[in-house]
Amino acid sequence: MLRWFGYIVLTLAVIGAAAYYWLIVDGSGPSGAAYAIDMNEVRTLANTAQGDKPSEIRMERIAAFKMPFTAMVAGESWKEVDVPVYSFQVNFPSAAAIVIDAGIDGVQAEAEKNPTFDAAAYARMQTAMITAGNIVITHEHPDHIGGITAAPSLTQILPQVRLTKEQVDHPEKMFGLKFPDGALKDYTPLTYEKYHALSAGVVLIKAPGHTPGSQMVFVQLTDGREYLFLGDIAWRFESVERVRTRARFVSWWFLGEDRDAVMNELAELKRIHDAEPNLIMVPGHDIDHMAKLAAKNAFAGTFK
Ligand SMILES: [Zn+2]
Repeated sequence: MLRWFGYIVLTLAVIGAAAYYWLIVDGSGPSGAAYAIDMNEVRTLANTAQGDKPSEIRMERIAAFKMPFTAMVAGESWKEVDVPVYSFQVNFPSAAAIVIDAGIDGVQAEAEKNPTFDAAAYARMQTAMITAGNIVITHEHPDHIGGITAAPSLTQILPQVRLTKEQVDHPEKMFGLKFPDGALKDYTPLTYEKYHALSAGVVLIKAPGHTPGSQMVFVQLTDGREYLFLGDIAWRFESVERVRTRARFVSWWFLGEDRDAVMNELAELKRIHDAEPNLIMVPGHDIDHMAKLAAKNAFAGTFK
């Protein structure tokens, strides 16, 4: 009897360990050539669009949450790490700016766990969106679209907002956020296949997986520096360097994302990073990588 009890406990322990490994630790998945970016084509598009290229990129940290490291990159520790929420302003010598990602507003931030919300940064971003020529989001999650749905001047900024068809078609990915009634009634979303030149030097790259409407943003400045905004394909840069994504538990339970698609994209980003280490990759929520980029003066300061 005692022996059978021992077997049952052992079996449960093995199942528990396997489940723990599968749901929390394992960051593996397919890493084939199922997703590819043709950087030559992206650069050609960036250089054939009309007008001056951008001259600088500015950034705001709108808020910060906390999350266990292993939730962000499977297999890391349970240590809580900061999860900052950013917005970026791409500035041109003469043309109107492009805003990439609009963060989250204070009311939404309060509903989350342990947020720090920077009201001044949020206000600068809202002001910048009014005069921007284009406003794009890397995907339709609340911490990227929230500053648009809650914008005090929504009717003024909406003509500049380039939501893609996939982003508009998946409001369930806004996890409860809503545009004011009728706000999108006459809205024409952006449709494109693989790449779209938003302006000289700025190209959108479709990358569904984390959400159906996920896209990356390539930026080439007048001084030759190049950036690739990854959105939340990678929350942390370790996901690119190690081709490891979020814990399955997070991908499936919280996000409902296409994890295999994300893994294929990470494999391609790793290939590009190895081939072109000078291309500045900007992950969605990586406080340590952003500090390294700031030390290299990748960003010109807060919004102007
Ligand atoms: Zn995010």
